[in-house]
Amino acid sequence: MNARSADAGQRVVLATANPHKTHELAEVLNRVLPGWQIVPRPADVAEVIEDADSFLGNARLKARALVAATGDSALADDSGLVVDRLGGAPGVHSARFAGPAATDADNVDKLLRDLEARGAIDEQARRARFVCVIVLAHPDGSEVIAEGSVEGVIATEPRGSSGFGYDPVFQPLQGTGDTFAQMSPDEKNAMSHRGRALQSLAESLGRTG
Ligand code: IMP
Repeated sequence: MNARSADAGQRVVLATANPHKTHELAEVLNRVLPGWQIVPRPADVAEVIEDADSFLGNARLKARALVAATGDSALADDSGLVVDRLGGAPGVHSARFAGPAATDADNVDKLLRDLEARGAIDEQARRARFVCVIVLAHPDGSEVIAEGSVEGVIATEPRGSSGFGYDPVFQPLQGTGDTFAQMSPDEKNAMSHRGRALQSLAESLGRTG
């Protein structure tokens, strides 16, 4: 029996408070880790300050805080957009790129303005990737780490209305030119950084048994 089947029925609390991400994670987890009991973040657990300087550091902070608060295993992801021409920004600051109270639209706006200010017009100059690091942390202190990314270019203006965050301006290289926000959730999950990180997590769990 491998670790995946041995773990079936295991309770795993999701660390994210973002309803879009909860939905995306639960949808993919139910497919790649069938039988696991996926529990949303309890409302009374305080949010963690994500002050690490890497996606892994932040994911670990969030997962460990949830394990400490609930006594269950916890799964946390930290993700963001990395834009080459902006020296890797917004990176770990993706959620608050335009300021502490920034909305998704504010962040997208700042991203487009910053790229324009650097004369990034052609697709090569607008190359970017979404990165996602997942930490599955257990109460005994052990953890499993998985990573996924998707390469793309930043569109010159927002297109589409599904998804969240920078989806309206992220055009994956392997697609047809649509942004993530123009795709169905299934289309996005099949190639997204989060979908790939979860797939990689499932493979690691399968292999370790
Ligand atoms: P986190 O919740 O700390 O991982 O912050 C992630 C931030 O990165 C989000 O608030 C979004 O701005 C951005 N982001 C991460 N994943 C996605 C995605 O799939 N689509 C669009 N934006 C994303």
